Amino acid sequence: MSEYPRIILHARRDVSVRRRHPWLFSGAIARVEGKPEPGALVAVHSFDGAFLAWGHYSAASQIRARLIAWEDADFVPEMPEFWRARLEQAIAARQPLLADGTTTACRLVNAESDGIPGLVVDRYGEVVVVQYLSAGTDARRELFNELLVELLHPATLYERSDVDVREKERLTPREGLLYGEEPPDVVEILENGLRFGVDVRHGHKTGFYLDQRDNRALVRGAVAQRKASTILNTFSYTGGFAVYALAGGASAVTNVDTSAEALRVGRENLARNGFAAANVEDIEGDAFTVLRELHSQKRAFDIVILDPPKFAFTQGDVQRAARGYKDINMQALRLLNPGGLLFTFSCSGAISADLFQKIVFGAALDVKRDAQIVGRMTQSSDHPIALTFPEGEYLKGLVCRIVG
Ligand code: SAH
Repeated sequence: MSEYPRIILHARRDVSVRRRHPWLFSGAIARVEGKPEPGALVAVHSFDGAFLAWGHYSAASQIRARLIAWEDADFVPEMPEFWRARLEQAIAARQPLLADGTTTACRLVNAESDGIPGLVVDRYGEVVVVQYLSAGTDARRELFNELLVELLHPATLYERSDVDVREKERLTPREGLLYGEEPPDVVEILENGLRFGVDVRHGHKTGFYLDQRDNRALVRGAVAQRKASTILNTFSYTGGFAVYALAGGASAVTNVDTSAEALRVGRENLARNGFAAANVEDIEGDAFTVLRELHSQKRAFDIVILDPPKFAFTQGDVQRAARGYKDINMQALRLLNPGGLLFTFSCSGAISADLFQKIVFGAALDVKRDAQIVGRMTQSSDHPIALTFPEGEYLKGLVCRIVG
């Protein structure tokens, strides 16, 4: 064991490690013994020398180590068997979701919450997309690539590590084919029996917002319980919520997005599911303006969906982000018919569920709409949140019913 570099913590700074939180911040560290390379395996010890955990060293990040194992000091979590077992466990947990064949895309590995900090693996049918987000997983990329091919037998293993968080680890963006055939321009997937085209090279995240699957299904259910609903799908991307709403029997859908390309793909997704384009209106524009215009045109809807991109990237952004969330929620609330439903989301980790509810409350108060919470939403179950890692919960949503 002595061959591995050691991190020695300050006195009384070992609590989060003992509670198995996977992030060790630089402020807790008294000294580092040895010269760990980025991503190197390190042993974490308390100030009095007791072994606490194994982690991967990140020289550049405030998160100085990502912890992976709390077993005794003689158990060295470096061999392929250790990572194969972690991957197998994560992949097996998703099998029920994929079992009946009506869903062919999901997140297979959700990083910290699946015990593999910094590794995201998404499946789109035969195409598997991977993101290496930490120095630890990036240093072991060859091993993970091999294990993923061995365990998943994909036609394609493609990398989309073109994300900002890599900068904090001093890693450059990386993208491209890792194994197998080049991915097709459009990968066709099924989600709850509905068809979508996914561009894994250029699409957002790894191509699709898999984390909203369960919430899209909720919208379908809510529409199905009503008759001839009109839907405003704000921040529509490639029309995920629109397709589900039409599957539930919506009479008309209005999509709003700044991206003409996303709206174009949304059209293709309608056609894939046999829905008539005549019932769907696309508005290319900034939601903050478009929602105001719709109000001045005296438009109203039975269901409004608000699924904006991340507004708060750090704690320092929270105030500004809160104003943004409040504004769009005010605009959305004004557009709802009495008895209508607002499905409103925030995917900013820095905005807590509690704060988000307060923001929506403030919005309703300001526009004088009386509303009730009739549902709470989070990310889909293939994006689990380890109890040791509450930071893993980033997506939160409220279903609000407009009383009057
Ligand atoms: N609901 C979608 C995901 C939304 S992602 C789904 O289920 O798949 C957020 C979307 O908001 C992106 O498509 C992005 O192009 C769009 N967007 C970002 N800023 C915007 C703005 N100010 N107005 C309208 N759309 C915006």
